[in-house]
Amino acid sequence: MPVNLLVLTGVLACAGGKPGGGGPGGTGGDGETGGRQGATGGTAGRATGGSSGTGGAGTGGAPDGSAGTGGAGAGDAGPAVPDAGMDAPGAASPLRIFWIDTEGGAATLLVAPDGQTLLADAGWAGARDPGRIAAVLAQVGAKKIDYLLATHFHEDHTGGMANLVKLVPAVTFVDHGNTVEPSDPGYALYTSALGSSARRMSVKAGDKLQLGGVEITFVSSHGQVTAPLAGAAANPACAGARTKRDVPDEDPRSVGFLARYGTFEFVDLGDLTWEVEGQLACPMNRLGPVDLFQSSQHGTDDSNARQLVHGLAPQVIVVNCGAGKGGGTESFETFQSSPGIKDIWQVHRVTRLDAAHNTDEALTANVAATDFNLSATVNADGSFTVSNGRTQQSRSYQAR
Ligand SMILES: [Zn+2]
Repeated sequence: MPVNLLVLTGVLACAGGKPGGGGPGGTGGDGETGGRQGATGGTAGRATGGSSGTGGAGTGGAPDGSAGTGGAGAGDAGPAVPDAGMDAPGAASPLRIFWIDTEGGAATLLVAPDGQTLLADAGWAGARDPGRIAAVLAQVGAKKIDYLLATHFHEDHTGGMANLVKLVPAVTFVDHGNTVEPSDPGYALYTSALGSSARRMSVKAGDKLQLGGVEITFVSSHGQVTAPLAGAAANPACAGARTKRDVPDEDPRSVGFLARYGTFEFVDLGDLTWEVEGQLACPMNRLGPVDLFQSSQHGTDDSNARQLVHGLAPQVIVVNCGAGKGGGTESFETFQSSPGIKDIWQVHRVTRLDAAHNTDEALTANVAATDFNLSATVNADGSFTVSNGRTQQSRSYQAR
């Protein structure tokens, strides 16, 4: 049984980035359909010979911006942050979640009712994504990032961290341990952001973290999954479930978490892939049903195993895709057929997919111009609202 380091002892597991030891990088993509887009057009390889646990770029960090050009997406229209959650004075503070547009990367910000912040991933290298994230942090009045979580060390998730921490300091870094794919620039950019003085907490599946009134349970890390949680349930979607083999890169190592606020539950598994998702889902759904699910790996078909999604049975799914990265026909059909699904929201319309495999435009933040976010406001009574930063329109739901 994993030890709950933070809650029980407050001790942080510190792991320094030791130099050397990592295997050589191979060639190949990152396994995300549609390839990389936006900041770098990267050529990151896959560590085919790397040894787990001992690696680490250990280069002292890449020079600023060296890993990317920070190419801005077309039509940047300036920060556009929906005002969800800006309640009248006196109202009980909600939990707020923002899916910040990083053009196919990931940057999911949780702002707890007491103002503490957890940022899961920070988009691509360059100036664009850190700037967008800093704008949202400023909008919510956050002067620091209490927990900066690297779900895994791919550049679309950790590329932006080195520049971000120059804009807004991060107190504690959270990750799955050292990379298994040191050839990806994401790890050097992460260690650059980490520097020498910040606290690093490498979590195990089952560890917990209290973020104000929000309980964070890490449900996957470094390829391991949590023991069944209190809400674990039998999962009828396991019968005849399809299997797929994971590529043994950073994706299946993703730190995934479940955030619970009152009865509301949100799951973000980073880029967790099919096999490990299957371990969370079968033969028992270890997480139980949840209310809001962020699609794994930007909604691609390598992830979002039907047995997981249908077991979680979320009311709302947010797909953090880019226009040319993420999304999938199989995964979209999985989302549409998921029991109890009310709405699928997308950060971008996926241009290569037809209208039947994209959600309604009203539920899509970026259709032509970009830099619009999706956000959710979650109240203590379990009511929650998802808002489109482009249209300022919202839909409301009730946690079960
Ligand atoms: Zn990704």
